[in-house]
Amino acid sequence: MIQLASRELCTGCGACAFKCPKSSITMKENGQGVVYPHIDATNCIECHACEKACPILNPLSDHEPQRAYAAWSNDEEERRTSASGGVAIEIYKYCLKNGYIAVGASQNEDFSVTHKIARTEEELRPFKNSKYVFSDAYEAYPQIRQLLKDNEKVVFIGLPCQVAALRKLFNDHENLLLIEVVCHGTTPLSYLRQHIHYLESCEGLQAKRMSFRDPDTYTFTFTFTLYNEAGERFYAQQIKDGDNYQVGYHKAINYRENCYHCSFARVKRISDICLSDYKGLGKYEPSNYGNEKVSCILVYTPKGQTIIDNLVSHGLIHVDKKPIQEPVAGDRQLREPSKKKYPRFVFENMMVKTNYDYENSMMVTKKRMKRHNMILQIVNLPQRLIKKIMRFCYSAR
Ligand SMILES: Cc1cc2nc3c(=O)[nH]c(=O)nc-3n(C[C@H](O)[C@H](O)[C@H](O)COP(=O)(O)OP(=O)(O)OC[C@H]3O[C@@H](n4cnc5c(N)ncnc54)[C@H](O)[C@@H]3O)c2cc1C
Ligand code: SF4
Ligand code: SF4
Ligand code: SF4
Repeated sequence: MIQLASRELCTGCGACAFKCPKSSITMKENGQGVVYPHIDATNCIECHACEKACPILNPLSDHEPQRAYAAWSNDEEERRTSASGGVAIEIYKYCLKNGYIAVGASQNEDFSVTHKIARTEEELRPFKNSKYVFSDAYEAYPQIRQLLKDNEKVVFIGLPCQVAALRKLFNDHENLLLIEVVCHGTTPLSYLRQHIHYLESCEGLQAKRMSFRDPDTYTFTFTFTLYNEAGERFYAQQIKDGDNYQVGYHKAINYRENCYHCSFARVKRISDICLSDYKGLGKYEPSNYGNEKVSCILVYTPKGQTIIDNLVSHGLIHVDKKPIQEPVAGDRQLREPSKKKYPRFVFENMMVKTNYDYENSMMVTKKRMKRHNMILQIVNLPQRLIKKIMRFCYSAR
């Protein structure tokens, strides 16, 4: 009997499918639009290679962070058009010039996100910026295997669970540079598609391109935008405007179930370098700049440190060394996974009741969230009043 990771823990990384010698495993959406491995038992020879390849069933060794930096690209345009400081694109460009082949997440015309190979700077462009949706890194595994066989150097940037899959598949291959971005969860593609179709029908237009953090409305405002065929923006809403996707994503409501149990959201990591938005800047050490468009680099291995040192010595990025506990204290996802709270439970319930209708489920969830917050405010009012009175009494002394 083959026992892969449970539905609660499976990240959809596809390492099991890649390792199957009989191609008996396919990665596909279940009835609720969530991607999981599916085993065709008629073809299975019970070799258990799939179980052995699973990074959830076989946890990997990890490293403590060695250094922390606040950092950004010295190229203003690269910085503006990247999610935070534009460090990822500088790593890619430097690596390309130094004989690496790059692998990164690129959004397709149907809005799905796939890891692709880039050999030129032009091919790197689609990798830029965060795509807050499930991505299928497994599409690139066969090419990565071939490249490593051919003695090529490969730089991969992706989510921590994808980096874990690559470490499991290719061990500590000296030609593989693994970089992860801090991650609070990914949403099934089917939810994103439903949201886009809903907006298209409201506007009577077809979306040809989208962004989760549009540089034209400043990436730090987390604006969800849609563009039509002519390249005109016809939708732009932020979390505060109540966009059903951004609220669901940034309030940890609409993730895959496994993201709430993510074993990779911790200080110790399995990659060479970890990139994130710099949260908590100035908490431990004074900073004379704000954290907008500033990335945090956590270096985990000597291989990672060499790359960062080279980027600095070539004048590609600016770095300021920081105490490691500063970003760790500032970013919850560097310590623990996202928590399931009241809105997530409402959403789960509504998805079942509405036969997995994302828009309707989010509408109801938002209404209940509002009511819940109001009740909390009323319940906490006496406590807040007492605190205010005490503060006033002390200051009047
Ligand atoms: C799903 C997701 C969740 C994130 N959660 C957090 C968080 O909680 N806290 C935090 O501080 N930072 C988070 N980040 C990281 C942050 O958004 C920036 O990516 C990071 O700060 C690096 O910024 P950058 O400007 O250097 O590069 P960017 O221009 O953002 O590029 C970074 C790289 O991310 C990869 N990437 C983009 N989308 C995906 C995807 N869907 N799947 C796999 N790889 C992808 C691309 O290959 C690209 O090379 C998250 C990123 C993603 C993709
Ligand atoms: S046991 Fe072997 S043949 Fe069967 S699904 Fe797993 S890897 Fe494939
Ligand atoms: S290898 Fe990845 S896709 Fe397969 S069961 Fe494990 S976590 Fe899920
Ligand atoms: S939260 Fe964890 S499991 Fe979910 S996508 Fe991010 S790294 Fe993968």
